[in-house]
Amino acid sequence: MKPPMPRFGFDNSYARDLPGASVAWQPSPAPAPRLLFANAALADELGLPPGVLEGPDAAALFAGNLLPEDAQPIAQAYAGHQFGGFSPQLGDGRALLLGEVVDRAGRRRDIAFKGSGRTPFSRSGDGKAAVGPMLREVLIGEAMHALGIPTTRALAVVATGEPVRRETALPGAVLTRVAASHLRVGTCQFFAARGDLDGLRRLVDYTIARHDPELIGQPGRELGLLRAVARRQARLIAQWMNVGFIHGVMNTDNVALSGETIDYGPCAFMEAYDPAAVFSSIDHGGRYAYGNQPAIAQWNLARFAETLLPLLADEDDEPAIERVVAEATAIIDKVADRLDAERLAGQRRKLGLTTDEPGDAALAADWLTLLHTQSVDFTLAWRLLAGAAEGRPEPLRDQFRDRDAVDAWLSRWRERLARDGAAEAAAARMRRVSPAVIPRNHLVEAALQAATAGDLQPFHALLARLREPWDEAALATPFGQPAPVEVTAAYRTFCGT
Ligand code: AMP
Ligand code: MG
Repeated sequence: MKPPMPRFGFDNSYARDLPGASVAWQPSPAPAPRLLFANAALADELGLPPGVLEGPDAAALFAGNLLPEDAQPIAQAYAGHQFGGFSPQLGDGRALLLGEVVDRAGRRRDIAFKGSGRTPFSRSGDGKAAVGPMLREVLIGEAMHALGIPTTRALAVVATGEPVRRETALPGAVLTRVAASHLRVGTCQFFAARGDLDGLRRLVDYTIARHDPELIGQPGRELGLLRAVARRQARLIAQWMNVGFIHGVMNTDNVALSGETIDYGPCAFMEAYDPAAVFSSIDHGGRYAYGNQPAIAQWNLARFAETLLPLLADEDDEPAIERVVAEATAIIDKVADRLDAERLAGQRRKLGLTTDEPGDAALAADWLTLLHTQSVDFTLAWRLLAGAAEGRPEPLRDQFRDRDAVDAWLSRWRERLARDGAAEAAAARMRRVSPAVIPRNHLVEAALQAATAGDLQPFHALLARLREPWDEAALATPFGQPAPVEVTAAYRTFCGT
């Protein structure tokens, strides 16, 4: 007789409370599952049964061949604007939500598969995922988490033992992903596009209960939700910008209402600073280029606002419509300023400042202009600035061709730092906000290529470094150094299909 399957302590509020938002579905079996990655610390945080990632059934469990007894797998429906064009029905074409757990800190978290086979939303896709892109989610997600940036996280990756057909045949994999929720702007768009206002209202109230419980039952709570989601997005995109992160596919179906970063497909970290940097092979117009991310975030939030309007005013009541449109517009219009303010606050910390002066924005902007015109590595420059705060500017100066220009800026910055109350401790503070280690594209690519060929050592070595991004010692290793320029110039990313 088979041993009983573990229980994860799932609650399945999404399936229960939101009829019409998902379809009950089962994962496709994997022929020869093998565990490639397991996140024991995260499993513990979630309060999963001890040893669940180690037992003899772990690979089968995280491949979807065996399911926790209390799992109730569903494929979620959603819509979305992709590169500006609207698709009324996308949905989980290769993902399944197993259920939600309430973690040790009392937070509700989704546990979901990605790459677990076709669903009713697969369209022409095969529902599968390859080892490389799923381990990429591990690397970037863990890096973001260590950098203090809200993100979904990987709990496990299992190789299925089955090839997936892309340009070539690649080893297949299933990722188990943990998220504060998988509610997206596109989830609201799904109901709005169908004119299902009851479904939309239920969804909005569900989102509020899950992410903004202080708004439960409040009149005008839809606008409250819009404000809260806008605040989280502004904060998140500012954090991305301050570590040089380019998401690469900021479609509305990839905008999580929780404010977490989701879907690490064609993302990349910038090396030499360039606001026009874009790596995605399908982003020809540079819609999702580094410097466009604030404007795109605002555009996505405007799409979110539009879905909420029918809940706020009756379509026949023109004065009411005008009023709510004005209110929603005011919220959206503030996003750019809020994002700028968040970004500047982060830049002040990276400059070692603890006080605000009106000239700080220009000081930060001029620094970025210097990095841009002299093609200096963004991560390394910020990090080496901490050394300059301790009277060791040489390693930083060595990054610039035009030393006079950087010296002129450094003397302005030193004067500003001297006026700040806490200049002595500046270097230590700066080293806690400007990382020595980011997932550099060439290292990520090398690790994933090796893993695809069966060697996981480079993946684990890189992962260990990414989990300690502030470690000064890494600067003396390849993990803290830029790629050769030719490598970055030729670097292209692909959607994780
Ligand atoms: P993404 O670009 O990964 O955010 O995915 C956009 C949409 O395409 C979502 O609806 C996905 O479920 C779907 N999709 C991506 N890859 C596949 C695949 N291999 N099979 C089926 N659907 C997919
Ligand atoms: Mg997506």
